[in-house]
Order: sequence, then structure tokens, then C-alpha cells
Amino acid sequence: MIKGIGVSAGIGIGKIHLVEEHSIEYTPKQVTDTDAEKKRFHDAVELFCENTRVQAEALRKTAGEKEAEIMTGHISIVNDPFLLGEVDKLIDGGQCAEASFDSMCDMFIQIFSAAEDDMTRQRAADVRDVRTGVLSVLLGISEVKLSEVPPGTVICVKELTPSMIAEINKDNVAGILTETGSTTSHSAILARVLEIPAVMSVPDIMKAAGNGEEVIIDGGKGTVVLSPDEAQIKEYSEKREKLLLERRELEKYRGKVTESADGTVYELVCNIGKPDDAKKALDFDGEGVGLFRTEFLFMDKTSVPTEEEQFEAYKKAAIILGKKPLIIRTLDIGGDKDIPYLGLAKEENPFMGFRAIRYCLKNRDLFRTQLRAILRASAFGNISIMFPLITCVEEVREGKALVEELKAELRSEGITFDENIRVGIMTETAAAGIIADLLAKESDFFSIGTNDLTGYTMAADRGNSDVSYLYSALQPAVLRMIRSIIKAARDNNIPVGMCGEAASDPMMIPLLISFGLTEFSVSAPSVLRVRKCISTWTKEKADEVADKVMSLGTESEVREYLQNL
Ligand code: PEP
Ligand code: MG
Repeated sequence: MIKGIGVSAGIGIGKIHLVEEHSIEYTPKQVTDTDAEKKRFHDAVELFCENTRVQAEALRKTAGEKEAEIMTGHISIVNDPFLLGEVDKLIDGGQCAEASFDSMCDMFIQIFSAAEDDMTRQRAADVRDVRTGVLSVLLGISEVKLSEVPPGTVICVKELTPSMIAEINKDNVAGILTETGSTTSHSAILARVLEIPAVMSVPDIMKAAGNGEEVIIDGGKGTVVLSPDEAQIKEYSEKREKLLLERRELEKYRGKVTESADGTVYELVCNIGKPDDAKKALDFDGEGVGLFRTEFLFMDKTSVPTEEEQFEAYKKAAIILGKKPLIIRTLDIGGDKDIPYLGLAKEENPFMGFRAIRYCLKNRDLFRTQLRAILRASAFGNISIMFPLITCVEEVREGKALVEELKAELRSEGITFDENIRVGIMTETAAAGIIADLLAKESDFFSIGTNDLTGYTMAADRGNSDVSYLYSALQPAVLRMIRSIIKAARDNNIPVGMCGEAASDPMMIPLLISFGLTEFSVSAPSVLRVRKCISTWTKEKADEVADKVMSLGTESEVREYLQNL
């Protein structure tokens, strides 16, 4: 079995169609009639734009308006006045159109490829696509045609460009395999929208696979089986049928309100780690973001991101989400998450040590920078601030005082922000659970982090296999902790969500409905499944289950009872 990155879930079974890259080689020439050469270049650009418009139209029909914009983006790239002007200048200097355009594209590709963020690097792939398109026109090469592949084809290509996807007849393509690309590349996004299973960044797949060879791809796991045997084909065919059935079933829940069988409405939002994931949350029909783990912005860099960089990141997510909620959690560092450039000291007991809110309150400059960036971004959407790892009232008060101080600072600078921005906390420590009644009076909302809450309640390290039998959110102690946190929130009329993994566990959902949770924050691909699960419960039935569960003495009894429901 070969491993790559699964970028579009689903099982694809079919025959490989190797897409050999066209050689767009040319011999650079000196030109004397530079006006004629410029006209040849501009004619080629025009024809390229015409072809691209046709592709955009095709994508608009198969995928949608936003997806078509990827192709119309190519038209904007090639019509960039600076690019066109520079190419003209090079031609005026005697270089042929091919060499002039190629060298300008190269310059852009190099600049974009060196960028640290995925989005800008993606621009390099777009410019490569544009370069191939325009050079093909100039050289009279017809581009790769994928529209005519027979049904059951798995397309295998070094780099899949959006223009190739635009050509695809999705009814005939069982899957996509590439040597480059990742989850955030445009082609991955398009594959997901078209629901074509895809595995990217499979090392040397162009050499390993043969034209016409049978293959199975699992776009969820990112695995590839070349020349599968009968048993494997049977196993994966069954898996595919099951997945397709489930997916069809779940699609009924897209665009629906998240409500229980007796009509109580819940908020069903997503956990994200990058601004672009906000789009993914919406693609999966999430109703907003219940947890933006900002530490990933810090981990991707070699120094603390500046206020401007953070502001742009938060603003981007806010704009993507529009009026939908975006809860930004302040830096949760330490424990198992290290950021080398922060120089955190090695600790005997990192989970009990200098992490999250504790670190931020002691590193004021860093905390101020982040809070200012969040506040500034709050002018562009529906943002809330959330502090992680709260254990006592002082931490909330200190954090909120700093937010107030920064609000005053921004006011005096004439910078706009959301004056009513809500400040809430993660309830994820045993201490927070025990004093939830006090914390609820200091917070605008709670979000229960069961990943940590389980560990801190059970005094069981999640990474230690010797105590893993204790690490379960279904432990009676953890369930009591969750119940009392929700009760404290409700007694004080503040919303209470859950952003730990337990929020999407079908065994936990009836208990959470019974306890009175108001918001579920889950990974984007779980949204429809959780919405469906919630829709099957009434409060009365959920209460019956919860009453029974809370009378059971052990985790295994709880698990067995819930599994048998
Ligand atoms: C949690 O602890 O449940 C949580 C959501 O936060 P993280 O997993 O980032 O620690
Ligand atoms: Mg946590």
C-alpha cells in the first residue's frame, strides 16, 4: 500500500490514465520585427483567455460560481498590466514572445513559491498553469484533454492544474492521483467540490503506476493500492458502497437547521486551525467556528507573527464567515505543543506547567499583540475571544482587564473594533469544572474542552498507554464534570458549547442534549453526521438515557449501555 495525502474523501476503483506532461520546450530566438512579435504574444493571450473562459463556464456548471473564479483568476493573472508591460519590454529588447513570457512567469513563480503561507504558494501553481496555457497557444500545442477518458478512469498526473479539472467529466473519473499538491491546493478544493476521491503528493506515482493498471484509492485515508487482488477489490467496493450510501443519506441534512426531534435548535460549528479552514467549515455546512486554534499560526513560523500578520489572518477568517460566529482562542502553547522560537523551558510536568493563559499573562507583549489583532479583526465579522486552560477567577479577570485596556488604546487611536465583543473561556481543567459557578459570572460563554478536561479530571496523561483505560470522556467523573459545567452556565444564562472531540461522539450526544449544551463544535467533516444524530433525539428520550448513564458506576458499564442503544 502506498501512502499520500488524502485530500478528497471517498473510495475510487478504476484503471490508471497517466497524463504525460506536454513538452512546452522551445528554442529561444532573437526577433527583429518586435511589433509583430508583440502582436503574436497579445493574440496568444487573447486566445488563452477565450479558452479559459470556456473552462470557467464548464466549472460554473459542474462545481459552482466560486470554483469558476479559480479559472477567471487565471485571466486576471495573464492580464496583469505589470506582467504584460514587462513582457512587451523584453520583446522590444529582441527576445521572442515565448522566452519573454516564460522568464516573467518564472520570476513570479519564484516569488510566490518562497512565501510562507499556503495561499501565496498556491498562486505559484496558478502562474505555472497560466504559463503552460499561454506557451501552448504560442507553440501551437493542444492542451491535455481529459474530457474524453472512459468511465472508471483514475487520472494520474504529476501536478493537477485547475484547468485540467475544468476539463474533467466527473461521471467518468473514479479518482485522482498526483505527485504534488496538498489539501489546500485549488485542485484539491475542486476535487472535493466535485466529490472525486483524490490522493495527492504520492511519491513517484507516475513511475510506479502503469497506463491501464487497476488501482484503488482511498481519499479519506490517503492510501493507494496498485494492482489490487480480488479480495481487496471486493473489500473496497463494499466500503465504497457503504460510504456512498452514508453520504447520500447525510446530504439530506445539508442546509438544514440543527435541531432535535422535538425542535430544540442547537448551534453546530467547527474547529479550525488556519484562516482558510473557515471556508472548509462552510463547505461542510458548519454554522460558524467554535474554536480557532491560533497556535497553528505561531507554529508555522520562525518568529512570533506580527500584529499585522495576525490581524490579516483573523480578518480573513471573519470575512469568510460573514455574520456567522468565529470564536478565536488565544495562544494555547505548552503541554504537548511546543513553539521552538519561544524558548519554553523543558518542564518535568509540562501539562501542569507554564502553558496557555498562564504563559500569555506572563508574556504581556505577545498577549497584547494577539489581542489587539483579534480586536481589530472584530470590525470585520462576528468574533469572540476565548481564553484556554482557565483554572481560577483571577485569570479571567486579568485577561478581560487587558482586553479592556486594549479597547481603550484602539479607541484613542481611532481604530474600529466590535465594542460588544464577547469574552469566554475554555472549561477544560478540573478546577474550572469545580468553580464553574464562579467562572460563569465572569465569562460571556463557556466552551468545554473535553480533550484536556478528561486528562485533568482523571489525572491521566493521554499519551501514556499504561493509563489510557482512564482517559475516556465516558468516565463517570468526567460526565459529572461536564454536567456540572453545563448546569453552572445555564444557571447563569450564558451559552455553553463543547469543542473537544467528545462533541461529535454519537454516544455522548444524548447526554449533552439532556445536560443542556447549546453549541457543538466539531471537525468540519463531522458536521452533517452530528446534525443527523442530534435530529434523532428528543429531550425526554435523552433524559432517560442520561438518568440511566449517571446511575452507572464504571466507564465500561456506561460504554456498553450507550453502545447497545
Ligand atoms: C480540548 O482540550 O478539548 C480542546 C478543544 O483544546 P485542545 O485540543 O486544543 O487542547
Ligand atoms: Mg485544550
